[in-house]
Amino acid sequence: MDAQRPICALDVDGVISLFGFEAPPDEAPGRFQLIDGIAHCIADGVGGRINRLAQRFEVVWATGWEERANEALPRILGLAGELPYLTFDGQARFGTAHWKVGPIAEYAGERPLAWIDDCLDESCRDWAARRSAPTLLVPTEPFTGLTDELTDRILRWAEAGYTQPE
Ligand SMILES: [Mg+2]
Repeated sequence: MDAQRPICALDVDGVISLFGFEAPPDEAPGRFQLIDGIAHCIADGVGGRINRLAQRFEVVWATGWEERANEALPRILGLAGELPYLTFDGQARFGTAHWKVGPIAEYAGERPLAWIDDCLDESCRDWAARRSAPTLLVPTEPFTGLTDELTDRILRWAEAGYTQPE
């Protein structure tokens, strides 16, 4: 039934792996994990938040990590298994997200979509506004990532029939 479920497109850097925080490493808002030789600060509690979203959404990696997102992250985050991932034909650029629009659009089709990313820009917002299926853009701060508050907001949006109470 996955083909009927709403999609949650999930970025990694700035959503799961935090950066730009002021705290010294021993007071970081997460635990450092070595992935492919690079130390990533994995946000405390973020695996549980993804698992909550996965009860309602088909969660899909939408990150320049592409298939590498499945190498260490499911184990580190305590996910049930690997997630589907999008590929970007070499277009991935750290610090931007417009290159994700095409592959996300293609994967999501006419299904409702929540997109969690720290680099959503005008082109992403324009596309979301034009999309005929319900679309929720969820910007994160790269130093806090996917918080409980954002997770609750996404689940409330789905519960409310993909509408946002103002
Ligand atoms: Mg990012």
